[in-house]
Amino acid sequence: MSTDERARVEGQIEALFASHPPADTPHPEFWGAQFDHGLAWVQFPEGFGGLGVSPRWQADINRRIEEAGGSIRNRFNNVLGVGMGAGTLMAHGSEELQRRFLRPMFTCEEIWCQLFSEPGAGSDLAALSTTAVREGDTWIVNGQKVWNTLAHLAKWGLLVTRTDPDVPKHAGLTYFVVDMEAEGVDVRPLYQITGEAEFNEVYFDDVHIPDSMRLGEVGEGWAVSMTTLMNERVAIGGHVAPRGSGAISHAVNAWEQTDKDDAVARDQLLAYWVEAEAMRLTAIRAGEAAKRGTPGPEGSTAKLHWADLNKSITSFAIDLMGAEGMTYPQGYDFSRPDLTANRTEDPHKAFLRARANSIEGGTSEIMKNILGERVLGLPGEPRVDKNVAWRDVPRS
Ligand SMILES: Cc1cc2nc3c(=O)[nH]c(=O)nc-3n(C[C@H](O)[C@H](O)[C@H](O)COP(=O)(O)OP(=O)(O)OC[C@H]3O[C@@H](n4cnc5c(N)ncnc54)[C@H](O)[C@@H]3O)c2cc1C
Repeated sequence: MSTDERARVEGQIEALFASHPPADTPHPEFWGAQFDHGLAWVQFPEGFGGLGVSPRWQADINRRIEEAGGSIRNRFNNVLGVGMGAGTLMAHGSEELQRRFLRPMFTCEEIWCQLFSEPGAGSDLAALSTTAVREGDTWIVNGQKVWNTLAHLAKWGLLVTRTDPDVPKHAGLTYFVVDMEAEGVDVRPLYQITGEAEFNEVYFDDVHIPDSMRLGEVGEGWAVSMTTLMNERVAIGGHVAPRGSGAISHAVNAWEQTDKDDAVARDQLLAYWVEAEAMRLTAIRAGEAAKRGTPGPEGSTAKLHWADLNKSITSFAIDLMGAEGMTYPQGYDFSRPDLTANRTEDPHKAFLRARANSIEGGTSEIMKNILGERVLGLPGEPRVDKNVAWRDVPRS
């Protein structure tokens, strides 16, 4: 990180804080100014929310904003946009789309969702069936997606479709940005164990998408999807929270409410504390590796460990709470939240929500497959449909 870069970043932070004091400026206005000063995704080019400098500066910028009383909640409120869509747009979108979408994404004026999974295609995403058929400069989309987080709030969706059924599954995919308010898009809630519907199923019935909304070439949707998924694993597992926050804070709070005379529980709490801290440091390392280019398998390590540990620690916290741990103060009102509950302050809800951590963003089994093949160099899984046209692959 050069002295010149430091001076440029410092200069922009000072100018931003002078014109828009972080503690006193409404969040969307501050985020807009942050984008204009090139401090949104600092590695992006100037004019696109960045300064074209090393992405390593971003953590410093975020810390400075929070210390000055500002907010970086847009990274969570619009996690599928800010965390995943932005990197995908920069890597594969036209300049016109980048200029159109990045700023309102960062300010959360436009929320994004991810439309990948289908009833018959989750871990095996490339098997998906939603079709896009070209008619001149328009694509007509039909099919169903599922488990789409925050789709009920989204203005735009990251959509992967099948455009050529006559080639093997990975080769026949094309990726689009879809207007979630377009005619023929139907978003329906799916309720979770927490009693909330963070996610949805989304139906497409002759939805028209202009060809100008395509990301990447026709038939290259798999490569574009991989950019999104690699960013997703880092966004999910790689967020570096302050020491002692997140799941471990629930365990510490629960311990504070006990008589603190159970030596076994204390020993377990300290073991979890050490593990949580080791995970935090792993996330920092994965984040650093990701900043050197497109995120690699380090994101899978962080994601795998994060999921297992969250489940264990939130269970431990509930155990420490005794009978109170069995209650659920929030109730089941089937609300539609504007944020995923991964960062909830309620230990009961945290316990329930953590069950999904080993499924969302790629299951733990799939993370292990990735690590086995790409890090340990173990033989790949048998892929019997690799060279078979998608149309000819047997499916239920
Ligand atoms: C809270 C939450 C939020 C989500 N948000 C979104 C979203 O916004 N957008 C979106 O598109 N999707 C989203 N998903 C979907 C998620 O990506 C999928 O659920 C996930 O990829 C698993 O796919 P599946 O549910 O079809 O399970 P399946 O792929 O059918 O897997 C079922 C079981 O089989 C195992 N399995 C499958 N294949 C293998 C294999 N090759 N080797 C070993 N084990 C295997 C799996 O690990 C799992 O245990 C979300 C899911 C959750 C839980």
